[in-house]
Amino acid sequence: MEGQDRQDLGARALSTTPAPIETDALIIGAGPVGLFQAFQLGLLEISCHIVDALPRAGGQCVELYGDKPIYDIPGTPKTTGRGLAESLLEQVAPFKSQFHFGEQIETLARQDDGRILLATHRGTRFMARTVFIAAGVGAFVPKRIAVEGIERLEGTKLFYHPDTESLGRFAGQTVVVNGGDDAAVETALALEPIAKQVTLVHRRDVFQADDATLATLRQRIADGAIRLAIGQPSAFDDAGLTLITPDAQNLVLPFDAIVGCLGISPRLGPIANWGLELVRKQIPVDTEKYETRERGIFAIGDINTYPGKKKLIVCGFHEATLAAWGATSIVFPDKSIPLQYTTTSTRLHELLGVKH
Ligand SMILES: Cc1cc2nc3c(=O)[nH]c(=O)nc-3n(C[C@H](O)[C@H](O)[C@H](O)COP(=O)(O)OP(=O)(O)OC[C@H]3O[C@@H](n4cnc5c(N)ncnc54)[C@H](O)[C@@H]3O)c2cc1C
Repeated sequence: MEGQDRQDLGARALSTTPAPIETDALIIGAGPVGLFQAFQLGLLEISCHIVDALPRAGGQCVELYGDKPIYDIPGTPKTTGRGLAESLLEQVAPFKSQFHFGEQIETLARQDDGRILLATHRGTRFMARTVFIAAGVGAFVPKRIAVEGIERLEGTKLFYHPDTESLGRFAGQTVVVNGGDDAAVETALALEPIAKQVTLVHRRDVFQADDATLATLRQRIADGAIRLAIGQPSAFDDAGLTLITPDAQNLVLPFDAIVGCLGISPRLGPIANWGLELVRKQIPVDTEKYETRERGIFAIGDINTYPGKKKLIVCGFHEATLAAWGATSIVFPDKSIPLQYTTTSTRLHELLGVKH
């Protein structure tokens, strides 16, 4: 890490309120490996916060293959991506790890006292004794609508992939939904009873969703409950969002809000600016503690690399286990930590909240 970075973040720490959240460990990424990292830290009595750019846990398992079967999780002959994420959340629940969803870690800098200061794009800051980068293939972020200047509307009139629970904010509004996959179709259908008017915009009159959902969409369009507009957004102003239609006409759609559902893709993003060594977009680690070249900064799961690395969940679980042990010498410098079994240790039973 560069001295200038340290100074910049140090200066910001002094001038901004509130104070950073102090924690023994900060996990970047709530994919399967980040979740199991929290569990392993919990067994060692290391408290942690977990940050993910997505609004939910599960990483690739939920975003890329939520309903597909997965067969190579030890002791679980068959589950799904989503099922695995749910089991991991249930397993880690006793440790009451604190999750921060919808926040991307933007900056990471070593402080003079050896701790690490991190900040999210929303300004939440953490002062961590150890950091576990479980960032997979990068932060999953929504693809943006490619119209110049439209990012100025984000958070006030432009929303990407909103949660179903947050759709109430569009009550009584004229909403333009942009996208052609199941998320766009389902969002348009969910908004129809809430909003004043819903227009579904896509570059062509072909949508991807299951047959029943598509049939409902076509019926709502035929009923006039949802308006369909085919074209590519090209500009916006107070009058509305301008589309260029397939026959090269301009179509202006008035809106109170625009909802972008153009898909979600991973971006390595800010990790490249943290001063860590990267080899083909991956972070080299040792195979004793899965620590990077920076003391107290561990990298586990798909983001790391070492001789023989395999991007498999089971390998990430092993890495997380040894990384948690690697952190003990930093979090408990004066203690020697004995290995305990969850089957027999009364202390671990206490931590897990189980009675024997
Ligand atoms: C289609 C498909 C099928 C697969 N099937 C299998 C299988 O059968 N068996 C198997 O073992 N593996 C399988 N895999 C691979 C497996 O999904 C990955 O190895 C696993 O998800 C890696 O977990 P992870 O926690 O390291 O990363 P991820 O699951 O990628 O999670 C990383 C998380 O970090 C977050 N993040 C990244 N950067 C930041 C940041 N700066 N700030 C905040 N959050 C951030 C991301 O949003 C993401 O949620 C499959 C992968 C795919 C794509």
